[in-house]
Amino acid sequence: MAQLSDDCFAFGGPMMSVDEAVSIIAARVTAVQDIETVSLTAADGRILAKQISAPLPLPPFTNSAVDGYAVRSGDLAQVEEQEQALPVAGRVQAGAAAQGPVEPGHAVRIFTGAPMPQGADTVFMQEDVRLDQGRVVLPVGLKPGANVRMAGEDIPAGHSALAAGQRLRPQDVALVAAFGLTHVEVRRRIRVAVFSTGNELVSPGASRGAAQLFDSNRFMLMAMLVRLGCEVSDLGILRDDRVSLASALKSVAGTLDLILTTGGVSTGEEDHVKAAVESVGTLVLWRMAIKPGRPVAMGIIGGTPFIGLPGNPVASFVTFVHVVRPTVLALAGATQQHLIPMPVRAAFTYKKKIARREYVRVNLRKGENGVLEAVKFPREGAGLLSSLVDTDGLVELGEEITLVELGQTVGFLGYASLI
Ligand code: AMP
Ligand code: MG
Repeated sequence: MAQLSDDCFAFGGPMMSVDEAVSIIAARVTAVQDIETVSLTAADGRILAKQISAPLPLPPFTNSAVDGYAVRSGDLAQVEEQEQALPVAGRVQAGAAAQGPVEPGHAVRIFTGAPMPQGADTVFMQEDVRLDQGRVVLPVGLKPGANVRMAGEDIPAGHSALAAGQRLRPQDVALVAAFGLTHVEVRRRIRVAVFSTGNELVSPGASRGAAQLFDSNRFMLMAMLVRLGCEVSDLGILRDDRVSLASALKSVAGTLDLILTTGGVSTGEEDHVKAAVESVGTLVLWRMAIKPGRPVAMGIIGGTPFIGLPGNPVASFVTFVHVVRPTVLALAGATQQHLIPMPVRAAFTYKKKIARREYVRVNLRKGENGVLEAVKFPREGAGLLSSLVDTDGLVELGEEITLVELGQTVGFLGYASLI
């Protein structure tokens, strides 16, 4: 387990900005150290433990980028506007060894991916030439070196191609495969325990009392954690009771890497998570300058980090993105991936408080001239699951903004980019 100190999440200010939260997490949370070796087919989404340098150049040999005719550019007459015919001698296809050098004054029939014959440095595309009695008629104006892929032009041998901490994507796995490697060393998956708190909650499938609702946050959070590559333990629903919460927290602390709860962290008298964590560990309430969202409880129980998210589903979702996600990445040894909003045009007006970051649920549509527009979901409640389900993503309104006017450029984050 990554053991964190009790004051790991200490914060002195009255309000915490999203950027402060992420930088505290990135600086103070230490990564799990265990390394596993996994095959390429199991590598997607894993966190690279050590950098990978290119053991060979890519492409490994100089080859043709097209189907056509390879020539020595020096053989071509330097006369402008005059076709030139060269006899065709030899044929080389992908996977075949090049047969000797191309004879001066000749062309070699060549196919995409085939090694360039020695001496040849330029390939004419077959679409651009004519054949005339065993000779190939070449048009004018092709630059020397055209249609050739040089050995190492993509990645030179020895180049540091993938950094430690990279969260492997399909294209990264492709690169590892192109290097001829069969396995990669990755950090072990982090283990996260998740539970919900609230007397009003029952699990789907259980019988629901008149004043109860089915627990939805737990399944949302577990799905988000799985997408981030975590191993998740589902610890169900805990009652609003300090003693049972404390004993549940204590029993899992030290056995995994992160404890995540939802609900019970407001400051109402039936919000017992705070007191429970304080009785078995340390806790700070991060009053985050974020809407929907605050507060988020951050704690350490027996060296294990604890995060208590708010119970309202939209607040839970948004704070997951800004607090849990960076924590999971830090624990997993991944490079922090900063969210980059895309500029879109606001098809809504909006007033907000200064010094607070707000997230507006929106749909995208193509407006005039094909410009993307963000259409605000008509209702704003933090409890509305439909507002997450029926939208494409979030418009991020920075701390400094107080008013959004129709047509103003705003930043959009698609849901897929958030996890
Ligand atoms: P709390 O943060 O415990 O005060 O809860 C705030 C609101 O979110 C209440 O209306 C709860 O019923 C609701 N809520 C809390 N936890 C969940 C959950 N796991 N799934 C769905 N709604 C929840
Ligand atoms: Mg509650």
